[in-house]
Amino acid sequence: MMLQGKTALVTGSTSGIGLGIAKALAQQGANLVLNGFGDADGALAEIRALGVKAEYHGADMSKASQIEDMMAFAASKFGRVDVLVNNAGIQHVAKVEDFPPEKWDAIIAINLSSAFHTTRLAIPAMREANWGRIVNIASAHGLVASAQKSAYVAAKHGIVGLTKAVALETATTGVTCNAICPGWVLTPLVQKQIDDRAAREGITVEQANNDLLGEKQPSLQFTTVEQLGGLAVFLCSPAADQVRGVAWAMDGGWTAQ
Ligand code: NAD
Repeated sequence: MMLQGKTALVTGSTSGIGLGIAKALAQQGANLVLNGFGDADGALAEIRALGVKAEYHGADMSKASQIEDMMAFAASKFGRVDVLVNNAGIQHVAKVEDFPPEKWDAIIAINLSSAFHTTRLAIPAMREANWGRIVNIASAHGLVASAQKSAYVAAKHGIVGLTKAVALETATTGVTCNAICPGWVLTPLVQKQIDDRAAREGITVEQANNDLLGEKQPSLQFTTVEQLGGLAVFLCSPAADQVRGVAWAMDGGWTAQ
């Protein structure tokens, strides 16, 4: 129970990777502030079943004022945020010349700027406690690009840059900032891309699944949310005290190519 008595805030934790990481942190004893759209009650119940306290704030990560409200809510419920996981994210796939400008703005706001806002608001209390962990969920697309994902690739490269800058600013303190770069993880975000591909190419969902993995991920297996939870827990451990500013791939070999 390495995180007993600590508080973790995970953005976009009603589903997928965020919920998986929230569970892994709760298994280490951390109390949780959850966020995201959809089934908040279900996510809260899953976390509370692990024996920790959990609260939910429905801030829209594209709105700075709502993020400020969420961070104040977390402080009022638990005193401060010790572990901040910037995970909320969306995707849109289109060629750059066809990319709707409002989708570009939303992806940059949710996948990148929200992490700036949560980080700037979390760091003062972390500095005061001389302990904190900031874990940014970037992507293989934070290290390499794919066609038709200009906004996502720009946002994810951006969050890797933000991670490095924050790691340098906190380097002499007990606060660390690192990024995790998953390859394909079978969550609703990716299921939609598989379903769209099957429909577009007139193939089965299983074939679309295999094609998606075969194209990018040499292991031909999805990364799981449990594996990502394990890496987040490691980054919160004393063994990771000197892991600072890394962009750690967990991508079945995607970016080794
Ligand atoms: P998901 O769709 O299952 O979950 C996304 C979460 O973000 C949900 O809880 C959703 O409600 C929340 N969210 C979306 N828009 C929001 C907003 N405006 N305000 C607040 N919350 C919002 O997706 P996922 O696959 O679990 O993705 C989580 C993160 O992991 C994203 O940043 C994504 O880019 C990244 N990622 C995913 C994969 C993958 O293969 N699934 C790979 C690499 C990186």
